[in-house]
Amino acid sequence: MAADAKSDAALLAGQVRGGDRRALARAITLVESTRADHRETAEHLVAALLPDTGRAIRVGISGPPGAGKSTFIEAFGLHLLEAGRKPAVLAVDPSSPVSGGSILGDKTRMEYLSRDERAFIRPSPSGGTLGGVARRTREAALVCEAAGFDTLLIETVGVGQSETAVAEMVDLFMLLLPPAGGDELQGIKKGIVELADLVVINKDDGDLAPAAGRTAAEYGAALHMLRPASSAWHPPVLRVSALHRKGMETVWGQILAHRDALGPAGLAAKRTGQARAVLWREIEEEVRGRLAAKGALQGLLERLEIDISQGLISAPQAARRVVEALAKPGS
Ligand code: GDP
Repeated sequence: MAADAKSDAALLAGQVRGGDRRALARAITLVESTRADHRETAEHLVAALLPDTGRAIRVGISGPPGAGKSTFIEAFGLHLLEAGRKPAVLAVDPSSPVSGGSILGDKTRMEYLSRDERAFIRPSPSGGTLGGVARRTREAALVCEAAGFDTLLIETVGVGQSETAVAEMVDLFMLLLPPAGGDELQGIKKGIVELADLVVINKDDGDLAPAAGRTAAEYGAALHMLRPASSAWHPPVLRVSALHRKGMETVWGQILAHRDALGPAGLAAKRTGQARAVLWREIEEEVRGRLAAKGALQGLLERLEIDISQGLISAPQAARRVVEALAKPGS
């Protein structure tokens, strides 16, 4: 069984590397699957592809619903194609129910880009915890890189939970915002603005242009307060009109400038830090999963929770006892 999983994965990895589109779709379906036998093959697949990953420019795009994310990704993706890049669009949307589709589920949202053979668009894997969805998107991103896509756009809806997960898998995190003023700015959580390497105010056109200008000025001021002056990169605030495909070149220019500012060593350090954070989250998830799977421990856990609430045992002591019980063979 294990040998099969490994040879299946090796075969599929070869096809993905060769640019076979159907193999790519199959590989992504595999890494998105939660079935235990699929997970095993998926892990072999990712391991086999790993040497061919890491060369893409990874960009995260977040913003509130209606900001114009899909309009922007369409315009920006088409610009990337013109510039000779090969974009792949992925998403993290932990809220999407299995039946209701996901933020990229509606292909008509990126009508031209989705029709272009050189681009690849994949909706968010549906269902499960944020950690699970993020892991599957991260692995799908690696598969895309190995398949030769050199620019990854990873979308998430900016409602306050998935941004950190996306910021942790990209080189640059972009916040896309609609024109808004005054109190409306408060709607965006400060923590999300702090994550941004680039703030893009969309809808800088027609009647909305003056508001876009004001919003850009307000975010410019806010970012000055949030960011240390000493950092190598100060997040710029740009204005675009995704609808009129205006400003796409400037956005791309800033993405490249950010890369230059980081330098190869800075980028490597950033990615290493991200990998370390992921490692620890995976360890936590694994331990939680094993705890839940061990029915025999449920009684112990319940007892310890009561003991803690009654002050009979400290939380660290109780945690140690659980981990020891978990490590005991046959428990
Ligand atoms: P999302 O929810 O962030 O993906 O936003 P959409 O891309 O679906 O856009 C939401 C609405 O804003 C749609 O009606 C778009 O046509 C409109 N929109 C998007 N970009 C622009 C823009 O640059 N200018 C104007 N005026 N409208 C835009």
